[in-house]
Amino acid sequence: MDSNELETNAIVVHDEATGSVPSEEGAEGPIQDDEPDDEDPRERDTFDIEKAVVEFIDEPSIVHDEYPDSSSDEDDEARRVRKRNNIRKVDGTLYYHQIFFNAIAFKEAVLGHALKTGCNIAQYMYDKTKIGFRCAGDGCIWRIYCAITKKCRRWRVNKYIDKHTCNPNGDCEMLKIEQTIKAKWKITVSRPQCQAARNKALRWIEKEYDEQFAMLQDYASEIRESNQDSTVEVDTVTNDAGEEVFNSFYVYFDVFKRTWKDSCRQLIGLDGTFIKGKVKGQLLVALGRDSDNAIYPIAWGCVQVENIVNWLWLVRKIKAYLGLMDGDGYIIVSNRQKGLIRAVELELPKVEHRMCVRHIYGNLKRNHGKDKEMKKYVWDIAWSYNEKDFEANMIKLKNYSEIVWRDV
Ligand SMILES: [Zn+2]
Repeated sequence: MDSNELETNAIVVHDEATGSVPSEEGAEGPIQDDEPDDEDPRERDTFDIEKAVVEFIDEPSIVHDEYPDSSSDEDDEARRVRKRNNIRKVDGTLYYHQIFFNAIAFKEAVLGHALKTGCNIAQYMYDKTKIGFRCAGDGCIWRIYCAITKKCRRWRVNKYIDKHTCNPNGDCEMLKIEQTIKAKWKITVSRPQCQAARNKALRWIEKEYDEQFAMLQDYASEIRESNQDSTVEVDTVTNDAGEEVFNSFYVYFDVFKRTWKDSCRQLIGLDGTFIKGKVKGQLLVALGRDSDNAIYPIAWGCVQVENIVNWLWLVRKIKAYLGLMDGDGYIIVSNRQKGLIRAVELELPKVEHRMCVRHIYGNLKRNHGKDKEMKKYVWDIAWSYNEKDFEANMIKLKNYSEIVWRDV
């Protein structure tokens, strides 16, 4: 997927002069499927992917002795700073005094809101300098009005009632294909024609997935041929219908192995992440750190689910591929996923297995809320370079909060 397609030129600026706090979107109503023709689970999948892409924030690198921000750590202030500084992609976030480069960017944002809430947003005013949308849901009071400011010539949200009093029923005027076609090409088409065309397009997309899976073996051969000494494995299983279907995929490039051995630290980070969208599964990744402390890819595998069997599978491969033997002299960093921990114990009994501080802190945050002081103590413990400092920092945390200390 080309993430560029999702970008628009909406810029979101928090207005300092007014000191207004952007209102957060809270009205996320259920998406009802009263009209099956208008709502397709596949569209939801696509939307989920797009949403995940626009919401993705790369983690900043951890610099020693600087307490890092983590995504789970984001408080209101951080969110405001992000809104102020970043050119945001459209995610349906709307708030009073929001600024847009142009009318299209504003409309995109409203469309994002319509998709997010499932509400029937309709345009009620269009002018060269002002645009208004309202919710066409039964008796709904939701409204937004955006106009060009005289001062900076940008579009600014001047009125916003951020509350839906309607029940979304799947109708969405903004997404009516008939109207779009008429406006764009001046052609009148019937609803069945639209439905047929849409189904055809969806079938194309579906076929594309099937075709791509069918080419997976070719892709693997191509990698093997063009990257000497690299390993690619495509594992398949036979389903009830007797067809050979995808089970897992694993790849490492020989050049990664050589570079990792020559120039990276003796440290391997392991983690798993969900793959969303039409094709579900989990991506298991092994990463290194180069001498510049930057992330370095080692190998990755795609499996159905993150469990002990699959982690054993990946850890064994990495062990053989990097020649880790019993793990002596190497460090593994990961979260506390049970299957992962067990797989490392079994395959690399002498490895130093450390828990990722980000994950530890993430868990603490979940259990102890927004205790901002806690973070400093936790990171100080992680940065202890000898036992004495470690004990001292642990005592500091214990004195600060015994409940948090017990959790660490
Ligand atoms: Zn509404």
